[in-house]
Amino acid sequence: MRAAAAAGVEFWLESPMVGLITEGDKVTGVRVSTDKGEQSVRAKLGVVLGTGGYDWNKDFVHRFEGEFDDHSSLSPPGIDGDHLVLGSAIGAAITTLPAQRGVMMLGFPTGYFDEVGQPTSLMYLPTGQHEIVVNRFGERFADESFYPSVQTAIHALDGKTHGHRNWPAWLIFDEDYLTSTLRAFHPAPIEQLRVSADTIDGLAELAGIDPTGLKKTVERYNEMAAAGRDEDFELGEKMWVQATRSLDPTTPSSPVKPAPIKRAPFYAARMTRLQVGSGSPGLKSIRTARSLG
Ligand SMILES: Cc1cc2nc3c(=O)[nH]c(=O)nc-3n(C[C@H](O)[C@H](O)[C@H](O)COP(=O)(O)OP(=O)(O)OC[C@H]3O[C@@H](n4cnc5c(N)ncnc54)[C@H](O)[C@@H]3O)c2cc1C
Repeated sequence: MRAAAAAGVEFWLESPMVGLITEGDKVTGVRVSTDKGEQSVRAKLGVVLGTGGYDWNKDFVHRFEGEFDDHSSLSPPGIDGDHLVLGSAIGAAITTLPAQRGVMMLGFPTGYFDEVGQPTSLMYLPTGQHEIVVNRFGERFADESFYPSVQTAIHALDGKTHGHRNWPAWLIFDEDYLTSTLRAFHPAPIEQLRVSADTIDGLAELAGIDPTGLKKTVERYNEMAAAGRDEDFELGEKMWVQATRSLDPTTPSSPVKPAPIKRAPFYAARMTRLQVGSGSPGLKSIRTARSLG
């Protein structure tokens, strides 16, 4: 921005591009909606579309990411896939990565809205400290500390039900999670979203999770925590987690590893899938970034 401003580039705020102007097979400009009405801007060399993802376009999210409930985004308003709409309107092709290779985080709705009325959410990366993420069968399904593993597992299709086995998902935690000093930073929305019970079975019933499955999972997790290693999903062992996460912000080398879920009351909070402005599809282009029809 600074370099462009220094070079004399003029920025138009609140002036969305609403169409591409073409001559033959060339894009020669854009139509822009401004407070002075619609204006055409001619481009001598070409038009670069840098409009981000499509997070706030529900139809695109369903079409490209799957029919998931509990979906929201951390990106600013206006990230709604205009490049896909306006590009395809002039015949550009759309190409996609498998949805499970997109970037998707987990988190919670805050209950607050931003200045244009969009719901805001809080991203949450679990550390396995008295907490796990489970599906409705009460099973863990990924290394909770590594979001790409979680994302891939959530998209896995269950042939039996033709649905997603690992969605919806719940964060399960205990009283130690809430009181531990390391957890002083736990996300505030959990306060409003959680249900609690004195037993794991009771908690599962309340949340709508299979009680036998959840009990088995928590017992297994506690055994692994006592032994000091998550044998099932290797929580905290990926290089990215080791490089970027620490249980204690004052000690960067404090590694992420499992800690048991055993002190009642127990809690469950249903999670939301969160996009971050970079989805799986885009306009198909060649090396010079020219779009293909
Ligand atoms: C909370 C958060 C954390 C993130 N953390 C990371 C991270 O740690 N590492 C990482 O690699 N990535 C991260 N990302 C993702 C990263 O920010 C995005 O992938 C990146 O910003 C996308 O860049 P972009 O230039 O394609 O689009 P954007 O930065 O989304 O910019 C698109 C711009 O186009 C404008 N626009 C949209 N439609 C129109 C229109 N019709 N006319 C005119 N303008 C329009 C929008 O207003 C916006 O300003 C994070 C994202 C979020 C939200």
